Amino acid sequence: MRRTKIVATLGPATRETAVLASLLEAGVDVVRLNLAHAEATTHIEAAGAIREQAGLLGREIGILADLPGPKMRTGPIIGDEVALEPEQSFTLFASPHRAGDVTGVCTTVEGLAGLVEVGDEVFLADGAIILKVTGRDNGDVRTEVVRRGLLRSRKGMHVPSAEPKIRSFTRDDDASLDVALRCGADLVGLSFIRNAADIEAVRSALRAKEGDERKRPLLVAKIETRSAVEHIDEIVAAADAVMVARGDLGIQMPFEEVPLLQKEIIRTCNKTGIPVITATQMLESMTHGPLPSRAEVNDVANAVLDGTDALMLSEETAVGNYPVGTVQTMVSIALAAEREGQAQLASVHREDSDDPVSWAIARAAVHAAEDLKVAAILCPTRSGATARRIAAFRPRMPILGLGYDRETVRALALAWGVIPITVPFLPEEQIDAEVIPQALEAARAFGVVRAGDLVAVVAGGPAPRSGSTDFVRIVAA
Ligand code: PGA
Ligand code: MN
Repeated sequence: MRRTKIVATLGPATRETAVLASLLEAGVDVVRLNLAHAEATTHIEAAGAIREQAGLLGREIGILADLPGPKMRTGPIIGDEVALEPEQSFTLFASPHRAGDVTGVCTTVEGLAGLVEVGDEVFLADGAIILKVTGRDNGDVRTEVVRRGLLRSRKGMHVPSAEPKIRSFTRDDDASLDVALRCGADLVGLSFIRNAADIEAVRSALRAKEGDERKRPLLVAKIETRSAVEHIDEIVAAADAVMVARGDLGIQMPFEEVPLLQKEIIRTCNKTGIPVITATQMLESMTHGPLPSRAEVNDVANAVLDGTDALMLSEETAVGNYPVGTVQTMVSIALAAEREGQAQLASVHREDSDDPVSWAIARAAVHAAEDLKVAAILCPTRSGATARRIAAFRPRMPILGLGYDRETVRALALAWGVIPITVPFLPEEQIDAEVIPQALEAARAFGVVRAGDLVAVVAGGPAPRSGSTDFVRIVAA
């Protein structure tokens, strides 16, 4: 049984029903919709198709919808490209509609002139070209080219000095959040966030849009800015999950720092007990060819050994020629790497958390489960918190995340080792009395335990306190 989860980005290569079905069958746990690309209706239809295919397979598949975030871009260029040479002057125009040429280009940043000083650096073409600000003039920003390069239409730009002053949750993001909710997203990816306040901005927007706390999607903080790296502790505390977004991270930071940052971010998430996704270019060469490079095989295996909960595919499944083969390849690499990783229990330290009792009980449950070699750990859970807490310790046996509502259960699709299962809803007053027999029945029905096997049941209660872990019982199934 594979414990590492797989996230696959949907795109033109995989939206067709038959391909989508094969993709899910190959082992995808969470499907990512990148709201920065394609129309709202395309995503909403795709979400419907994912639900339908997951239903046919009898599996709970999560949907992650990524908001575009405050990514800065330069505007269109006449003829689609212009070569910039060292020491030439180049203007960043204030007017958002002015077409670009060798003299300058417009940008998506409103009021850029008010955000930069003479001498500041501006990176264009995803970091390839460097400009230095030489002056400001009627809202236009005058610069000189420091490092040459080819600028094409609508490329990513990066202004380190201005970024902290720019609002994170843009009008585009607000519209995308509506699309994410219409897709029924279980998880929402937050692109280019810089600190915990950026996460809180999305939480309050969600609170205003959706009434029911339990039905709110979990927030995945994408670590892809320098500022996010600097604020990693407060981000991990504020987010529900994290993504090591190596693509943009390797542009905003020197790329040689990304391997160590990956290890540090994963370690921080593991210690805190929140799921972490390792993303981008994991099997990049399989976008075009049927086999991975040896370096990519090593990269995927090393992410598993680093302790990642999930591995992500982007272009490989969105626009690649071998989407299903790529997922199969990732599955086999993950399985092989997990054999090594199963050597010892993870040490998780949450004595400092706001709920040390829940963490202590989760730890005790996992140690008892390991000592007794139980067949499975069953987690009836209202919010998903108990199952995620158990997963954080990386026990050897299957973890069943048994939830009453689908939204909670699907969000567990991202958590390492957790099999998400929806159980029939019980009236609130019966939950405490029936929780153990019901969990056993669900586990037997799912086929992970046989009658007579020892299992651990870990849950909140007796008083229904959503989010807490209050007891462990070791029982025979
Ligand atoms: P993206 O995020 O695919 O949305 O850009 C991932 C990354 O930057 O690595
Ligand atoms: Mn990115």
